[in-house]
Amino acid sequence: MVTEKIAAKINPWHVAQQQFDLAAERLHLDPGLRKVLREPQRELTVHFPVKMDDGTVQVFTGYRVQHNLGRGPAKGGIRYHQDVSLDEVKALAMWMTWKCAVVGIPFGGGKGGVIVDPKKLSMREVEGLTRRYATEISILIGPERDIPAPDVNTTSQTMAWIMDTYSMHVGHTVPAVVTGKPIPLGGSEGRNEATAQGAVYTLIDAANHLGMDITHSRVAVQGFGNAGAIAAQLMHAQGSTIIAVSDSTGGIFKAEGFDPNAVLAWKKEHHTVCGFPGTKDITNAELLEVDCDILIPAALENQITAENAPRIKARLIGEAANGPTTPEADDILYKAGKFVIPDILCNAGGVTVSYFEWVQDLERDFWDVAHVNEKLHRIMTRAFSSTLEMSLTEKVNMRTAAYLLAVQRVADATSVRGLYP
Ligand code: NAD
Repeated sequence: MVTEKIAAKINPWHVAQQQFDLAAERLHLDPGLRKVLREPQRELTVHFPVKMDDGTVQVFTGYRVQHNLGRGPAKGGIRYHQDVSLDEVKALAMWMTWKCAVVGIPFGGGKGGVIVDPKKLSMREVEGLTRRYATEISILIGPERDIPAPDVNTTSQTMAWIMDTYSMHVGHTVPAVVTGKPIPLGGSEGRNEATAQGAVYTLIDAANHLGMDITHSRVAVQGFGNAGAIAAQLMHAQGSTIIAVSDSTGGIFKAEGFDPNAVLAWKKEHHTVCGFPGTKDITNAELLEVDCDILIPAALENQITAENAPRIKARLIGEAANGPTTPEADDILYKAGKFVIPDILCNAGGVTVSYFEWVQDLERDFWDVAHVNEKLHRIMTRAFSSTLEMSLTEKVNMRTAAYLLAVQRVADATSVRGLYP
């Protein structure tokens, strides 16, 4: 597929640095501070053995990167994917720094990843890999230092294993070392839905700003996992028509719309969205270009590029995924009058409720889902309106506006702390 080939060639770390440079330039950031914020503070690479079910030993490679710790402990997910690279993890860590700053939560940016296709491993092998990876990165993680969470191909079960492994090492139970845990281990109500819920809050705000009626909108969603499937369900529940969804195996389309809850049940049984009765199979590249009002990329980086951006029909794009749009594509979309809610704002609901989970774990005091969502709504709406105001005043797109807010906040925190020693 043409788009996949282009995506593979674009280095997400170069994209992240390019986006930062744009904001640093506009903010006239001090040159020394600019050098500091342009690089991650720490990068750990680990090669570790795992005993496989057939008795052989395989060595896997993983990473944990902390981009900036100026505003608090590092926070960011762990990804299991065959295409993980150090540069991808560095980009994701930097985006976490800006994301936490955009929504104003007291964390820095971190991210982790292991080069593995977990679908090719048994459950026991994934558990062994997770526990050994957690052990290797335990020199960095901890409730006051660096708090992982789920990302692509990792789940609440993965977080439970990491929490258990860390707790075994220190000799007592430490729920706050990870977020996105199962509820009985100190997970938060609403965390599983938080990324999608936060994205939907920003889509509603954007639709109001654009004068769009969201209840009559036609929506396409790329990626049908934690972020994408729940976003499709929530949009459907509030009246939108879901006309296309996809996963790593391909996509489905029906102009009159379909019920994403039924697609989820189909996917559970068939391990793909493709072939869902009454729909036409399409490719992931075609999904991005379908005639719709709202497009929600919720899979991987570099999906909307200079090559396909001119053919995107959606008026409103909500980036539930991290890094789905390249800087060149951003310019094309902005000039074409498209409204993009950037990843560091749109998908910040996940890290926001992760923050709530961490607070609840530390206080041993747990909130109900209504309280979680009410606080999440307040934070997302505040972040959306500050970003929109910056975008209108500075006459820049929403991504640059979010960067201006975030980079300034991190720069202020870093410079007021001073340069040690
Ligand atoms: P997930 O593993 O639950 O789901 C990923 C989905 O993307 C799956 O349906 C998979 O089949 C699909 N996919 C993978 N490769 C694809 C491809 N080439 N084309 C189309 N679909 C493909 O992961 P997730 O947690 O939903 O993460 C998705 C995106 O959302 C990532 O960019 C992630 O960084 C971002 N995100 C997730 C969270 C969170 O809390 N889980 C928070 C913020 C951002």
